[in-house]
Amino acid sequence: MNTPEKIWMNGELVNWQDAKIHILSHVIHYGSSTFEGIRCYETDKGSAILFFEEHIKRLYQSSKIYRIEIPYSEAELKEAILDTVRANGHKACYIRPLVTRGQGALGVNPSQASIEVAIATWEWGTYLGEEVLETGVDVRVSSWTRLAPNTLPTWSKAGGNYLNSQLIKLEALSDNYAEGIGLDINGYVAEGSGENIFVIRDGIIYTPMAGQSILPGITRNAVISLAKEFGYELRETLIPREALYIADEIFLTGTAAEITPVRSVDKYPVGDEKRGPITEKLQKAYLDVVKSGNDPHNWLTFI
Ligand code: PMP
Repeated sequence: MNTPEKIWMNGELVNWQDAKIHILSHVIHYGSSTFEGIRCYETDKGSAILFFEEHIKRLYQSSKIYRIEIPYSEAELKEAILDTVRANGHKACYIRPLVTRGQGALGVNPSQASIEVAIATWEWGTYLGEEVLETGVDVRVSSWTRLAPNTLPTWSKAGGNYLNSQLIKLEALSDNYAEGIGLDINGYVAEGSGENIFVIRDGIIYTPMAGQSILPGITRNAVISLAKEFGYELRETLIPREALYIADEIFLTGTAAEITPVRSVDKYPVGDEKRGPITEKLQKAYLDVVKSGNDPHNWLTFI
C-alpha cells in the first residue's frame, strides 16, 4: 500500500505519520469499529466516487446497529471525504472511512469510550489481480461458517465481523486459492470473505438472500439492477453448495473485487473455466460506467 500524505482524523487533515490512536482504545481490544470501502475512479470525464451516497448510508446504519453514534452529520462526513481525496491529489483511489470506539473505557461496556472518526485514502489496483477480471479466480468452499443469525450482525460492516473473514481468506490462501466461499449456518452458500456471490445456471442468475448471513453489498445491488435491466431472471434464494459445482458461471462482486469471474470451485471447473457470457455482459456494463464516466444509472459523484 502506498501512503497518502494526509489522513482526516476527528475533524482535521493530519500528516500520515500523525494519524494515531492510543493502544488502550476500545476498538483494539474488542473490534468495536465500523467502516466503509469506497472507490474513486478516474473516468474519461474526471474523477468520480462510485455509490457515494449508498456507502455513507451504510456506514451510519452499520454504526447504528452497534449503537455507535457518529459525531458528524452525513453531509459533514461526505465533505470530509471529498477534502481528503482532494488533499492527497488522487485521481483514482480507495477510500476508507473508519469509526472506532476510543479511550475512556476498558471493560466490554463501551458507553464511556470516545468515538473517533478517520478517513484514509490510498491508490489501489484490482483487488484479486488485474488479469483475473478476464481469466477468473480459483476459489474453495471454506471450512469456516459465516456468522450465524443473531450472533454478529452481518448487515453491519463492523471491524469485529472481519475476524471470520480473515479465517476464510487465510485458509484459502494457504491452499493457493484466491478466495474462500463461506456457507451459512445451514450449509447454504453465503459469500466470500469480502465479496458477494452470484451463480448462473441455464440462463438464470442466483444470489443468496440479503438475510442469509451476508453483507448486503452495494455492488450486489447494482448487479441485481443491471441484470433486471438486461431482462435476465434473477432469483435471491437459498443456494446449496452443490449448485457451485454444476454452475455455468459464477462471479464475485464487491467494491474492491468489482465483478470477478470464478474459474473453479474446490477444483470443479466452472463452465468453460473462463469468464462466461452473462458475467462478461454485466462486468462490461459496470466497468463502462467507471471508465467512461457515462452514468445512465446515477452511480457517480464527480469530485
Ligand atoms: N461481503 C463482505 C463480507 C464484504 O466485506 C464486502 C465488501 N464491502 C462485500 C460483501 C461486498 O460489498 P460492496 O459491494 O458493498 O463492496
